[in-house]
Amino acid sequence: MSKHKPFLLVFSAPSGCGKTTLLNKLREKFPGIGFSVSHTTRPRRRGEVDGVDYHFVDQDKFKQMRDAGLFVESATVHLNSYGTTFAAIDTLLAAGNDVILDIDVQGMRRLQAANHYDFVSIFIMPPGLDELSSRLRLRDTDSEQVIKQRLANAVAEIKAAPLYDYNVVNDDLENAFTELSAIITAERLRTSRNIENFS
Ligand code: 5GP
Repeated sequence: MSKHKPFLLVFSAPSGCGKTTLLNKLREKFPGIGFSVSHTTRPRRRGEVDGVDYHFVDQDKFKQMRDAGLFVESATVHLNSYGTTFAAIDTLLAAGNDVILDIDVQGMRRLQAANHYDFVSIFIMPPGLDELSSRLRLRDTDSEQVIKQRLANAVAEIKAAPLYDYNVVNDDLENAFTELSAIITAERLRTSRNIENFS
Protein backbone atom coordinates (compact mmCIF):
# COMPACT_ATOMS: atom_id res chain seq x y z
CA MET A 1 0.00 0.00 0.00
CA SER A 2 1.33 3.43 -0.88
CA LYS A 3 1.86 5.96 1.87
CA HIS A 4 -0.41 8.84 1.01
CA LYS A 5 -1.03 12.27 2.46
CA PRO A 6 -4.10 11.87 4.73
CA PHE A 7 -7.33 13.56 3.69
CA LEU A 8 -10.99 13.88 4.70
CA LEU A 9 -13.83 11.68 3.52
CA VAL A 10 -17.05 13.63 3.90
CA PHE A 11 -20.23 11.55 3.93
CA SER A 12 -23.76 12.87 3.77
CA ALA A 13 -27.00 10.95 3.47
CA PRO A 14 -30.62 11.40 4.46
CA SER A 15 -31.18 9.52 7.74
CA GLY A 16 -32.15 5.89 7.29
CA CYS A 17 -29.88 5.35 4.26
CA GLY A 18 -27.66 2.87 6.06
CA LYS A 19 -24.85 5.39 6.35
CA THR A 20 -23.81 4.44 9.89
CA THR A 21 -23.62 0.72 9.01
CA LEU A 22 -21.55 1.49 5.92
CA LEU A 23 -19.19 3.81 7.78
CA ASN A 24 -18.61 1.22 10.51
CA LYS A 25 -17.80 -1.41 7.88
CA LEU A 26 -15.35 0.93 6.17
CA ARG A 27 -13.56 1.65 9.42
CA GLU A 28 -13.21 -2.09 10.02
CA LYS A 29 -11.87 -2.73 6.53
CA PHE A 30 -9.44 0.16 6.13
CA PRO A 31 -6.66 0.66 8.61
CA GLY A 32 -5.70 4.28 9.07
CA ILE A 33 -9.20 5.75 9.05
CA GLY A 34 -10.40 7.79 12.01
CA PHE A 35 -13.82 9.22 12.71
CA SER A 36 -14.39 12.88 13.47
CA VAL A 37 -16.57 13.06 16.58
CA SER A 38 -18.92 16.04 16.29
CA HIS A 39 -20.41 18.15 19.06
CA THR A 40 -24.20 18.27 19.27
CA THR A 41 -26.99 19.66 21.42
CA ARG A 42 -29.25 16.74 20.45
CA PRO A 43 -30.29 14.48 23.34
CA ARG A 44 -28.36 11.21 23.51
CA ARG A 45 -30.15 8.22 21.96
CA ARG A 46 -30.30 4.78 23.50
CA GLY A 47 -26.92 3.06 23.07
CA GLU A 48 -24.99 6.20 22.16
CA VAL A 49 -21.79 6.92 24.09
CA ASP A 50 -20.62 10.44 24.93
CA GLY A 51 -17.25 11.12 23.31
CA VAL A 52 -17.61 8.18 20.91
CA ASP A 53 -20.75 8.86 18.87
CA TYR A 54 -20.88 12.56 19.68
CA HIS A 55 -19.74 15.00 22.31
CA PHE A 56 -23.10 15.86 23.86
CA VAL A 57 -23.20 19.48 25.06
CA ASP A 58 -25.88 22.01 25.99
CA GLN A 59 -26.81 25.04 23.90
CA ASP A 60 -24.73 27.46 26.03
CA LYS A 61 -21.58 25.41 25.71
CA PHE A 62 -22.16 24.98 21.97
CA LYS A 63 -22.59 28.72 21.47
CA GLN A 64 -19.47 29.42 23.53
CA MET A 65 -17.45 27.05 21.35
CA ARG A 66 -18.86 28.54 18.15
CA ASP A 67 -18.07 32.08 19.29
CA ALA A 68 -14.54 30.99 20.17
CA GLY A 69 -14.08 29.82 16.54
CA LEU A 70 -13.51 26.18 17.47
CA PHE A 71 -15.72 24.80 14.67
CA VAL A 72 -14.60 24.47 11.07
CA GLU A 73 -18.31 24.10 10.29
CA SER A 74 -21.53 24.00 12.27
CA ALA A 75 -25.18 23.78 11.35
CA THR A 76 -28.69 23.35 12.68
CA VAL A 77 -30.13 19.97 11.71
CA HIS A 78 -33.61 18.79 12.76
CA LEU A 79 -33.76 21.69 15.29
CA ASN A 80 -30.47 20.75 17.02
CA SER A 81 -26.98 22.22 16.64
CA TYR A 82 -24.12 20.12 15.28
CA GLY A 83 -20.52 21.10 14.68
CA THR A 84 -17.11 19.74 13.71
CA THR A 85 -14.13 21.14 15.60
CA PHE A 86 -10.76 21.75 13.98
CA ALA A 87 -9.33 19.70 16.87
CA ALA A 88 -11.43 16.61 16.06
CA ILE A 89 -9.95 16.56 12.55
CA ASP A 90 -6.42 17.82 13.21
CA THR A 91 -5.59 15.23 15.87
CA LEU A 92 -6.45 12.39 13.49
CA LEU A 93 -4.67 13.91 10.47
CA ALA A 94 -1.57 14.55 12.56
CA ALA A 95 -1.52 10.86 13.49
CA GLY A 96 -1.52 10.00 9.76
CA ASN A 97 -5.16 8.93 9.55
CA ASP A 98 -7.72 9.74 6.89
CA VAL A 99 -10.77 11.18 8.59
CA ILE A 100 -14.41 10.27 8.06
CA LEU A 101 -16.89 13.09 8.63
CA ASP A 102 -20.58 12.29 8.87
CA ILE A 103 -22.15 15.70 8.29
CA ASP A 104 -25.15 17.14 6.49
CA VAL A 105 -25.30 19.08 3.22
CA GLN A 106 -24.93 22.48 4.92
CA GLY A 107 -21.82 21.17 6.66
CA MET A 108 -20.28 19.95 3.39
CA ARG A 109 -20.93 23.34 1.79
CA ARG A 110 -19.34 25.18 4.72
CA LEU A 111 -16.32 22.91 4.64
CA GLN A 112 -15.98 23.65 0.94
CA ALA A 113 -16.27 27.39 1.59
CA ALA A 114 -13.72 27.22 4.41
CA ASN A 115 -11.24 25.72 1.90
CA HIS A 116 -9.07 24.55 4.78
CA TYR A 117 -8.86 20.80 4.23
CA ASP A 118 -8.26 18.40 1.34
CA PHE A 119 -11.50 16.44 1.15
CA VAL A 120 -13.52 14.04 -0.97
CA SER A 121 -17.31 14.21 -0.69
CA ILE A 122 -19.65 11.26 -1.02
CA PHE A 123 -23.44 11.33 -0.99
CA ILE A 124 -25.24 8.11 -0.11
CA MET A 125 -28.62 7.87 -1.81
CA PRO A 126 -31.59 5.86 -0.54
CA PRO A 127 -33.02 3.39 -3.07
CA GLY A 128 -36.33 5.28 -2.94
CA LEU A 129 -38.49 7.34 -0.61
CA ASP A 130 -40.92 4.49 0.20
CA GLU A 131 -38.02 2.27 1.20
CA LEU A 132 -36.51 5.09 3.25
CA SER A 133 -39.79 5.68 5.05
CA SER A 134 -40.08 2.02 6.08
CA ARG A 135 -36.42 1.89 7.18
CA LEU A 136 -36.93 4.90 9.45
CA ARG A 137 -39.99 3.29 11.04
CA LEU A 138 -38.20 -0.03 11.51
CA ARG A 139 -35.37 1.73 13.33
CA ASP A 140 -37.89 2.74 15.98
CA THR A 141 -35.74 5.46 17.54
CA ASP A 142 -37.81 8.51 16.61
CA SER A 143 -41.38 9.74 17.05
CA GLU A 144 -43.78 9.92 14.09
CA GLN A 145 -43.36 13.69 13.99
CA VAL A 146 -39.56 13.39 13.83
CA ILE A 147 -39.83 10.74 11.09
CA LYS A 148 -42.04 13.05 8.98
CA GLN A 149 -39.53 15.85 9.47
CA ARG A 150 -36.65 13.56 8.48
CA LEU A 151 -38.46 12.47 5.31
CA ALA A 152 -39.12 16.08 4.32
CA ASN A 153 -35.44 16.85 4.94
CA ALA A 154 -34.45 13.80 2.87
CA VAL A 155 -36.31 15.15 -0.16
CA ALA A 156 -34.50 18.48 0.18
CA GLU A 157 -31.11 16.84 0.80
CA ILE A 158 -31.30 14.55 -2.22
CA LYS A 159 -31.50 17.68 -4.40
CA ALA A 160 -27.97 18.54 -3.23
CA ALA A 161 -26.48 15.18 -4.30
CA PRO A 162 -25.02 16.64 -7.54
CA LEU A 163 -22.75 18.89 -5.45
CA TYR A 164 -20.81 15.87 -4.20
CA ASP A 165 -17.78 14.23 -5.84
CA TYR A 166 -19.47 10.81 -5.71
CA ASN A 167 -23.02 9.46 -5.42
CA VAL A 168 -23.51 5.91 -4.15
CA VAL A 169 -26.97 4.32 -4.04
CA ASN A 170 -27.45 2.02 -1.08
CA ASP A 171 -29.96 -0.42 -2.60
CA ASP A 172 -27.77 -3.34 -1.55
CA LEU A 173 -25.41 -3.03 1.41
CA GLU A 174 -22.62 -5.21 -0.05
CA ASN A 175 -22.70 -3.41 -3.41
CA ALA A 176 -22.62 -0.01 -1.79
CA PHE A 177 -19.76 -1.15 0.43
CA THR A 178 -17.76 -2.40 -2.57
CA GLU A 179 -18.32 0.90 -4.37
CA LEU A 180 -17.27 2.98 -1.35
CA SER A 181 -14.17 0.83 -0.88
CA ALA A 182 -13.21 1.44 -4.51
CA ILE A 183 -13.55 5.19 -4.03
CA ILE A 184 -11.31 5.19 -0.96
CA THR A 185 -8.69 3.01 -2.62
CA ALA A 186 -8.59 5.21 -5.73
CA GLU A 187 -8.52 8.48 -3.79
CA ARG A 188 -5.62 7.21 -1.70
CA LEU A 189 -3.70 6.52 -4.93
CA ARG A 190 -4.18 10.01 -6.37
CA THR A 191 -0.86 11.43 -7.57
CA SER A 192 -1.47 14.66 -5.68
CA ARG A 193 -1.60 12.71 -2.41
CA ASN A 194 1.49 10.65 -3.20
CA ILE A 195 3.80 13.24 -4.68
CA GLU A 196 6.42 12.76 -1.96
CA ASN A 197 6.78 9.13 -2.97
CA PHE A 198 8.42 10.27 -6.22
CA SER A 199 10.89 12.77 -4.86
P1 5GP B 1 -28.25 12.30 13.94
O1 5GP B 1 -28.88 13.22 14.92
O2 5GP B 1 -29.24 11.37 13.31
O3 5GP B 1 -27.05 11.58 14.51
O4 5GP B 1 -27.67 13.21 12.77
C1 5GP B 1 -28.52 14.08 12.10
C2 5GP B 1 -27.79 14.74 10.97
O5 5GP B 1 -26.79 15.62 11.47
C3 5GP B 1 -27.10 13.78 10.02
O6 5GP B 1 -27.41 14.18 8.70
C4 5GP B 1 -25.63 14.00 10.29
O7 5GP B 1 -24.85 13.80 9.15
C5 5GP B 1 -25.63 15.46 10.70
N1 5GP B 1 -24.44 15.83 11.49
C6 5GP B 1 -23.84 15.11 12.46
N2 5GP B 1 -22.77 15.76 12.94
C7 5GP B 1 -22.67 16.90 12.23
C8 5GP B 1 -21.74 17.99 12.23
O8 5GP B 1 -20.78 18.06 12.98
N3 5GP B 1 -21.98 19.00 11.34
C9 5GP B 1 -23.03 18.98 10.47
N4 5GP B 1 -23.17 20.00 9.63
N5 5GP B 1 -23.92 17.98 10.45
C10 5GP B 1 -23.74 16.95 11.31
